[in-house]
Amino acid sequence: MNTAFEIAVFEGDGIGPEITAPTVDLLRQLAARSPDYELNFHSVPAGAAHYAKTGESLPSDSLAVARDADAILLSAMGLPDIRYDDGTEIAPQIELRKRFGLFAGVRPVRVLPGGITPLKLPEGQGIDFVLIRESTEGLFHTQGTGEVTKDEARETMLITRDVSEKLFRFAFDLAAQRKKQGRGKGRVTCVDKANVFRAFAFFREIFDAEAARHPDLSADHAYVDAMALWMVQKPWEFDVLVTENMFGDILSDLGAGLMGGLGLAPSADIGLDNAVFQPCHGSAPDIAGQGKANPYAMILSAAMMLEWLGTRNGVEAMRADGERLARAVDVQIASDTMLTVDLGGTARTDEAASAVGAALFDGA
Ligand code: NAD
Repeated sequence: MNTAFEIAVFEGDGIGPEITAPTVDLLRQLAARSPDYELNFHSVPAGAAHYAKTGESLPSDSLAVARDADAILLSAMGLPDIRYDDGTEIAPQIELRKRFGLFAGVRPVRVLPGGITPLKLPEGQGIDFVLIRESTEGLFHTQGTGEVTKDEARETMLITRDVSEKLFRFAFDLAAQRKKQGRGKGRVTCVDKANVFRAFAFFREIFDAEAARHPDLSADHAYVDAMALWMVQKPWEFDVLVTENMFGDILSDLGAGLMGGLGLAPSADIGLDNAVFQPCHGSAPDIAGQGKANPYAMILSAAMMLEWLGTRNGVEAMRADGERLARAVDVQIASDTMLTVDLGGTARTDEAASAVGAALFDGA
């Protein structure tokens, strides 16, 4: 049976359009070759350039298309020189997380043996873990509404039982899925600061309750400061890490650093009804329009989207295509010829994306 999926596409600001076009093109080619699924793309405006032109950063029509879509593919939004009157930047990607309750920020950290990483890994050793960052509350709860007086500034951290329960259920389900696929050890680690803050003792208690429902998986805890150390010293030991919003924000950049930089770091923000797939990097205005943007993180995010849609809807061919797309990027990273400028190579955006297509469709 052929199943059709509607994909809302935000091409965003800066390098966004340059990395979105070849990514959507690869997705179209994959779907065109599959008898099992169809992809329909709906390009919708939002972001800083759109705000400068129209006074709207996330039009209600765009929001409606995104809400109704099966998945949302987003490049990056925001430009440092375009700001709201209060001095903050235009960031519809953050608004989408709150509006759609995208509580699970999924940040895979993957380095194949011999792949790009600033670490000296033991021979034959790779890195393959997933950091899950709660993305709707925590220390971001009062984002934009913190109280600032002449002498004091105050922000509030919020941890709720409802969101934490969903978050931990998601983390254990992901660990079970990775174990089944032979990719993970079946281990979930709660990263917190329960030694100091009552809010994190509460967070941990909810984690432990979910862990008790999964006797087939192992569960443990780590303080966030120690985790920063261990992600550098022994990252290969971890499988699924789950943490609060601000801790996850910081650790996910450390994770991106472990795999050679932002140009290779994909992500997903997943809720119960909606999901956004986007690279971890921003709009890179310093290189926009020069053909130097690395498209790999965007393509890897699209691969995560196919895997998520395929798994959620029971379309195995689609899940497998997501895996193939990610492997086709791995091939480019492993070759010295298709490294983009940020990775120390000379490949341009279109060359890198075409090489992924060749690896997928021509077996090159
Ligand atoms: P950035 O990630 O855009 O850029 C940081 C550095 O990494 C720059 O030198 C840039 O050239 C490089 N870089 C990033 N992505 C690259 C890619 N794909 N290929 C090659 N090089 C790449 O971060 P920034 O400069 O702090 O932010 C720029 C704008 O992006 C800001 O307006 C910021 O608010 C916004 N931003 C958006 C998101 C998002 O949409 N999720 C995330 C972060 C920043």
